[in-house]
Amino acid sequence: MNWNRAVQVIAGVAVLLLAGSFPAAAQGIPQPTPASAVSAAPQSDPPPITREARGWLADLIKINTSNPPGNENLAAMYVSGVLQKEGIKAEILDVGPERSAVVARLRSSVVPDPAKALLLVAHLDVVPVDKARWTVDPFGAVVKDGYMYGRGAIDDKGMLAANLAVFINLKRSNAHLNRDVIFLATADEEQSADASVRTLIAKYWDKFAAGFAINEGGNVFTKSGKVQYIGVQASEKVAVNVAVIARGTSGHASQPTKDNPVVHLAAAVAKIGAYSAPVHLTAIVRRYFEGVAPLEDDEIAKWIRSMDTPDRGEHAQRVISEASPLWNSMMRDTVAPTILSAGVASNVIPAEARANLNVRLLPGDSINTILGDLNKLVNDPAVTLQVQPNAGLAAPPSSLESDFYNLICRVASREFAGAPALPFQSTWLTDSAQLRLHSVQAYGLVPFPLTDEDLRRMHGDDERIPLASFDKGVDVLNKIVTEFAVARY
Ligand SMILES: [Zn+2]
Repeated sequence: MNWNRAVQVIAGVAVLLLAGSFPAAAQGIPQPTPASAVSAAPQSDPPPITREARGWLADLIKINTSNPPGNENLAAMYVSGVLQKEGIKAEILDVGPERSAVVARLRSSVVPDPAKALLLVAHLDVVPVDKARWTVDPFGAVVKDGYMYGRGAIDDKGMLAANLAVFINLKRSNAHLNRDVIFLATADEEQSADASVRTLIAKYWDKFAAGFAINEGGNVFTKSGKVQYIGVQASEKVAVNVAVIARGTSGHASQPTKDNPVVHLAAAVAKIGAYSAPVHLTAIVRRYFEGVAPLEDDEIAKWIRSMDTPDRGEHAQRVISEASPLWNSMMRDTVAPTILSAGVASNVIPAEARANLNVRLLPGDSINTILGDLNKLVNDPAVTLQVQPNAGLAAPPSSLESDFYNLICRVASREFAGAPALPFQSTWLTDSAQLRLHSVQAYGLVPFPLTDEDLRRMHGDDERIPLASFDKGVDVLNKIVTEFAVARY
């Protein structure tokens, strides 16, 4: 019905994804790096640069950039080394102790025109792993059953390796560019803290100023072994953390008191857990649902189309929210309790108990509205809510009318057998919000067709990328960039 209930047929996807061609790279490509080459999936025979890209991906997975602490320096040096070997001048940008980004540029002319330039963005860091829950070494880049396993295989080292392949392909083919193409590998994306793209922009903007960017953020969604649609991210939600703090009197656990903060906190969190913010469909989400309705079964399609009607709207919104956590979160602000902390000893009533709420706001919505709602709901003078530092900033959406957006949609749709490309507002964050705040038309597309199962592993255990999807994605990304940035004669 929808992708939460769909049975995923991985083999079907693999058959579908016959590796494409790399015309520009066909001549003059050196041998793939034997040291980093990995065995090909049995179902595909990728072109040489894609094979090399698999090797770069494997090497990158093996460099542990779990954030915190990130320590992206080694990965940055690796990436810069790959570029230097191609005769591309790569610069390592310092963003903190042991933390760096990498930038490189292919020029179209002597005088750069930043407004036209295209930025290929990916991040070097990954989320940490719970090693005991993995069935393979998370930093081993193990290839098994047509997948490459490893933290970052999808998020975002897959994209990083694909960007490298596309960028190097342009260089090797001596492409005549109509705009500068800039490669950027960022740090600290997963924490969006001091070493993140914010710092990079503040310190080094001139080195990668661009009018357009392609980054992670959107997905190629599959259903029943076929690409269902391509979500091209043009906007994203905004993350804000809120502390829930319950205060009481500490004392001996043998004599319980009514103001035990553990009890007050637990009650508050239980109430917050049941909260649902009102539906607010942004322009992009409206267009998304218009496009997705015809792809769903009749029942779901009917409810999607009823969401705006006065009589059945509310019920329709409930049905659609319940049909998919992604849809639910695209339609409203959300609040997820993520951390609980209290207590110093088993026989001591603590003076304070805390929880963290991870709030995701639709761009344009205010945290104060949510705080007002939650305060009313909790209704307990012993409990306070406190917005935490490093709250995200809402960015204006990227244009759905730009040439680049249209080109991404056209090429992706063509390459994925006519599946529609839809504008997408991600519930997750990317570096693109910061770029959009600097007037970059940034679009998100992880070009690898992925099943629900694959997507769930992304910040979870046993993250893996189907090699056939990786190969196909490298090819599609190459076509998008080539058609946008290479001059035609
Ligand atoms: Zn990511």
